[in-house]
Amino acid sequence: MTAIAVLGSTNMDLVAYVPKAPRLGETVTGRAFRTVPGGKGANQAVAAARCGGQVVMIGAVGADEFGVRLRSALTAAGVDTAPLRTVEGASGTAHITVDDEGGNSIIVIPGANAAVTGLESGDEPRIAAAGSLLLQLELPLSAVLAGARAARAHGVRTVLTPAPAQPLPAELLAATDLLVPNEHEAAALTGLTDPLRSAEALLADVPEVVITLGAAGVLYAARGRDPLTVPAPRVRAVDTTAAGDTFVGALAVALGEGRPMPAALHWASAAAALSVQRHGAQDSMPTRAETDAFAA
Ligand code: ATP
Repeated sequence: MTAIAVLGSTNMDLVAYVPKAPRLGETVTGRAFRTVPGGKGANQAVAAARCGGQVVMIGAVGADEFGVRLRSALTAAGVDTAPLRTVEGASGTAHITVDDEGGNSIIVIPGANAAVTGLESGDEPRIAAAGSLLLQLELPLSAVLAGARAARAHGVRTVLTPAPAQPLPAELLAATDLLVPNEHEAAALTGLTDPLRSAEALLADVPEVVITLGAAGVLYAARGRDPLTVPAPRVRAVDTTAAGDTFVGALAVALGEGRPMPAALHWASAAAALSVQRHGAQDSMPTRAETDAFAA
């Protein structure tokens, strides 16, 4: 099995479904409320585990009921949560309003995630034992940098999802092997809206880039090679939440198994296309058998 370490966020998504989102000062009656385990780190961990990876999650949950649920959602997916700390205070939460048009607005409160400012003893050996380290930007940058440094020191492939979009320190880029932005994040990083030009610009900083393009698929670029576009399978999407995280988790599994990049991109695109046909974030992520069958 492919060993994958994830250093990232866990959040409880608190989702209110409303006909129309309230304006400032307005009160509206909603249709339904759901609490759903999320956070980009936890989502990528669950995606990789469902796809057959042996995954360990480094981060923190709060000492509250959400923390218990967030941990058990990871454990249920087969993720090793031994290095996931429980810290004083609240777990991270995302307060999401979804209207009848599918539009949403989100407030993220980092909670316990903000307590992860670096690595603890035991984290570095776990990173060193993995084939890949998956990083996103929902933890303090000091922790992301510490993880990237540790991965680099041990020759572990670093896969960075630069979300939420923000300027990246040169040291983080220098320790990144594979950068996986969506097209908006790529544009925010480079100031270029054309994905191909954006990917070429990013190659000045990192050796390999995959830009995800939603229903249009993915664009892969690497130094010294021709860029490659892998179209997404044509499916009826009902909910694209965590499609990007599903893609990254599956890609890390496929690359860890030694599949060549084009085959790995094809397989990860199949996993992501399966996830968009179902509602939910972690709930929508496919198993390895489902992904194999769909990718065939
Ligand atoms: P999210 O924030 O919802 O996790 P994202 O914006 O980070 O997603 P996208 O580029 O929208 O990422 O989607 C990631 C990948 O998921 C795409 O590259 C594609 O492989 C797959 N995907 C997304 N939408 C669709 C779709 N409508 N049909 C098929 N595949 C899709």
